[in-house]
Amino acid sequence: MADELIRTINLTKIYGAGEAAVRALDGVNLTVAAGEFLAVMGPSGCGKSTLLNMLGALDQPTAGEVWVAGENLARLKNVDAFRAKTVGFVFQLHNLLPTLSAQENVEVPMQGQLSAGKRRARAKMLLEMVGLGGRGGALPGQLSGGQRQRVAVARALANGPALILADEPTGSLDTQSGEEVLALLADLNRTQGTTIVVVTHDRRVAQATQRIVRMSDGRIVSDHRLDDPLAEDLRSLADSRLGQAILGRNEMQEDYLDAEERAALRRLLEKAVAEQSETAKRTELKASPVND
Ligand code: ADP
Ligand code: MG
Repeated sequence: MADELIRTINLTKIYGAGEAAVRALDGVNLTVAAGEFLAVMGPSGCGKSTLLNMLGALDQPTAGEVWVAGENLARLKNVDAFRAKTVGFVFQLHNLLPTLSAQENVEVPMQGQLSAGKRRARAKMLLEMVGLGGRGGALPGQLSGGQRQRVAVARALANGPALILADEPTGSLDTQSGEEVLALLADLNRTQGTTIVVVTHDRRVAQATQRIVRMSDGRIVSDHRLDDPLAEDLRSLADSRLGQAILGRNEMQEDYLDAEERAALRRLLEKAVAEQSETAKRTELKASPVND
């Protein structure tokens, strides 16, 4: 596929060894086209951050391969140069340098890439783009959480990356600031065609994307496009504790529903789950070309 930006092949990551070994990623096959905006969801500890770190060459797999922008990351000659040029990171906690101004923080990744004058001009332009044109001189401590996270997005964009990797970028923000950061990411994706992979717990965040990949125990358990909001709601409900109980996969804690309601909901959820695995199958078929 010409416009493929990311491909992982049986990506596996094991932390530790022997009894203490943790299989954080267990054979993940994920393909992302250039220009996609996708969310990775799943319970805490299922491997989301590990996956993101592998995509950004922040960590190395135990087995399998990661290809980004045509490069096999295990064969990169200069990992730092790859990260600086191709990937922008946004973390839950913004990681801004506290003693540098917003403007200087945005300039940091451009060091060694652009002259001082060009760095300054570009940082200024990026801060304007994230709605902080007037605050370039402020230290991180003088900005709100949402503003700091917008500085972090501007910094991630410093070198015009093809890919933004965001790990719970709205996780430490109030609802409104979270929505602003999210709108910013969606806008970037739409106007600049930046590919964005966002790890999130927040259904509203996920629903602003185009595709949701769900993980559990180091594996991808579902992967679908958000063309049908009702189907998506049903899938989320199916994944919830109540949904899992109705589907008979969990102990029902309390009797939330009477028998008739439960039967109706069960039929809906079974339908949603069946449709989901159909879509996953189709995606998998598409993602594995015959002559590969
Ligand atoms: P998530 O981001 O979905 O919450 P992580 O990718 O952070 O999950 O972690 C996946 C699993 O790997 C967890 O069981 C976690 O405890 C383990 N893990 C993550 N990083 C390390 C590490 N550096 N050393 C050992 N175990 C780790
Ligand atoms: Mg995480």
